[in-house]
Amino acid sequence: MTYKLGLIGYPIKHSLSPWIHKQFLEVANLQGNYSIFEVREVELTELVQTIKEKSVTGFNVTLPYKQKIIPLLDDLDPSAKHIGAVNTVLNKEGRLVGFNTDGIGYLRSLEQSFPDLTNNKQVNILIIGAGGAARGIYNALHQAGYTSIAIANRTIEKAKELSRHSESAILTLDQAEENLAIFDLIIQTTNVGMKPNQGDSPIKLDGMKSSTIVSDIIYQPIWTTLLQDAKMKGAQIHHGHSMLLYQAQYAFEIWFGVTPSLRNMNSQLKRILEG
Ligand code: NAP
Repeated sequence: MTYKLGLIGYPIKHSLSPWIHKQFLEVANLQGNYSIFEVREVELTELVQTIKEKSVTGFNVTLPYKQKIIPLLDDLDPSAKHIGAVNTVLNKEGRLVGFNTDGIGYLRSLEQSFPDLTNNKQVNILIIGAGGAARGIYNALHQAGYTSIAIANRTIEKAKELSRHSESAILTLDQAEENLAIFDLIIQTTNVGMKPNQGDSPIKLDGMKSSTIVSDIIYQPIWTTLLQDAKMKGAQIHHGHSMLLYQAQYAFEIWFGVTPSLRNMNSQLKRILEG
């Protein structure tokens, strides 16, 4: 059997997902195609209908359709419902079910790079940003038992909304800068520093202690200004491409019920992104 997979978004010609999922298919010893469905919003409803009829096993969804896809699906997994955004869809016997793999993917990538964290859930964590990715990451950390998570965001109301059901410190970006020495792990989830604005950084790290882990989920560029700054100050670094791989691994798991090994994809992808 040849499985059909794909990605919906716009623009997505340079997406890394086909490269990732073709390797996963190979590792899992499955025959399949991963197609790019680069469509305008007016074409979205028809495309989803066609996908359903053509027995596509599953597909990924990226910008700008992570929310717009929701009314076109039959059901949502609790994580996607909570986050309010879908990046993975499973065609379950003709019913399209939406999932969000960002949070679990991030958590797996983090704990794989820093296994000691799994036994130290009391670390002080700062999440910078309160958008869709931050929501997934916050929920996954919270559910995994991490107890001290502060959120700093440009729009303070969004940070409050994110921590509605739990007790988290809410900070402005300036307050986060002033209190950086408290944190053992800083997770940068905003768009700030992404190509073509790679000179930007959401905060300065002057007050940070050198043992801190600094994680940036942006992967283009792989060395954001924030991570370069963190490295100069002696921090431990966690790059965004590893979240990309692990969130894709979890999507593959949802489609096929098997967890493909990443083999050496982490270092391969890093090399590709470093150009
Ligand atoms: P989003 O929902 O649009 O959220 C954007 C966040 O960035 C918000 O917190 C927003 O603050 C903040 N922000 C934007 N411009 C800002 C500025 N000039 N100054 C300060 N804060 C600013 O986006 P998202 O889906 O969460 O994605 C965010 C980033 O994560 C993107 O770079 C994306 O590529 C990356 N990402 C990576 C992976 C991966 O696998 N590595 C997966 C998903 C996303 P306000 O609330 O104030 O607007």
